[in-house]
Amino acid sequence: MLEELKQKVYEANMELPRRKLITYTWGNVSGIDRASGLFVIKPSGVEYDELKPEDLVVVDLDGNKVEGKLRPSSDTETHRILYRAFPEIGGIVHTHADYFYGDIPCTRSLTKEEIEAAYELNTGNVIVETFTERKINPVFVPAVICANHGSFTWGKDAAQAVYHSVVLEEVAKMATFTELNNPKVARAPQYIQDKHFMRKHGPNAYYGQG
Ligand SMILES: [Zn+2]
Repeated sequence: MLEELKQKVYEANMELPRRKLITYTWGNVSGIDRASGLFVIKPSGVEYDELKPEDLVVVDLDGNKVEGKLRPSSDTETHRILYRAFPEIGGIVHTHADYFYGDIPCTRSLTKEEIEAAYELNTGNVIVETFTERKINPVFVPAVICANHGSFTWGKDAAQAVYHSVVLEEVAKMATFTELNNPKVARAPQYIQDKHFMRKHGPNAYYGQG
């Protein structure tokens, strides 16, 4: 079932240790087949060097395991909530990379009650709440930091979600070192931020080879 997607999600998972984004098993990638409404995710707690494409677990958008010998990632409920709320996305990454700072959206901290009732499901809910309340488009801002936890990123597929995870870490690292060099540094003016965004993503984008 979904062998091609499993292979892609497997390769996207293997990119995480290769890019030094995770330590041990502290991260996961999933990818969704929108036609069937099924997503493929890393099994829980399996070492990356032992992971095989056939170990990946197939889950539906109601949270039922559809195929797989192993238990899905403990973060499956967060992935599921995001796939339901953000219909444009096709892949999601979760890591615990180290250098976060700045304007990457950050959720509020979950309450003790939310954590005890359903931690991973409420992690998904607090991400959706952050994007809804702050009117952030998840297609344009494909990353979030969960307060007191780590990041989730997404994209049109699993490979692009990994790409965004690598970029998030790199941008955060640049910001950290910039602030070390100049603690009084101000943010770039809005018109420069807009220019950088619009030349790549705006209606008259000209970045790249077209
Ligand atoms: Zn986590």
